Amino acid sequence: MSFHAQVLTLYPDMFPGPLGTSLAGRARDEGIWSLDTVQIRDFADDRHRSVDDTPAGGGAGMVLRADVLGRAVDHAVTAQPGAPMLYMSPRGKPLTQARVRDLAAGPGATILCGRFEGVDQRLLDARAIEEVSIGDYILSGGELGAMVLLDACIRLLPGVMGASLSGEDESFESGLLEYPHYTRPQEWEGRTIPEVLRSGDHARIAAWRLERSREMTRLRRPDLWERHGDAQVQSPSGERRETKEK
Ligand code: SAH
Repeated sequence: MSFHAQVLTLYPDMFPGPLGTSLAGRARDEGIWSLDTVQIRDFADDRHRSVDDTPAGGGAGMVLRADVLGRAVDHAVTAQPGAPMLYMSPRGKPLTQARVRDLAAGPGATILCGRFEGVDQRLLDARAIEEVSIGDYILSGGELGAMVLLDACIRLLPGVMGASLSGEDESFESGLLEYPHYTRPQEWEGRTIPEVLRSGDHARIAAWRLERSREMTRLRRPDLWERHGDAQVQSPSGERRETKEK
């Protein structure tokens, strides 16, 4: 069964966008994943086909209407009942590689893209919708967020990545940032490739890479390092031991 994405948006022309090229595009041509867009405006019921209105209580901007979105969401659920319903939102749970992996292992995803000031809260309260953020900054709409999420899922689908092992070493998969890479030429602007990588000694190379990963994570992402340290000192029973690696 292939991975199916439904995207609810006011701008269906933005899709597949970058997901139509390279790895994702080829995978789509091969039927590994598919995409339908749903035009939110098709679910408006007034003469002007309006989808938004001014915020209750006043203030700047416009808010997407719960009634219009409710119909669009219900339509999407009927079209693909088993798929998780996501709303791209800066107030959502930050997207992680673990969540991406879960989603990629499932039937697909239905993604609601907000615009303007966002959506009427009652929609989020009334439907089973998971709010997902792609980071602590504000986009002008959920579409690019949906593309980010889908791109991260698609590359994990079976048959998408050429060298299938290349997914396993990467940043976050082990809880650490990835080690640095080098390739030919051997010397560039007076800089050489670290000697160990030319040694052919696989054990030494693995140890060097792990050390670089650990160092980079510790220096650049103390938050990840902290969690990684916690994971390493968990006993088999799941209880945390007293000593913690620093
Ligand atoms: N007023 C809102 C921001 C609205 S931005 C607030 O301050 O929380 C308009 C739309 O862009 C949102 O509805 C959401 O769908 C999308 N969006 C903006 N930033 C995002 C982010 N960091 N992650 C995911 N979606 C985002």
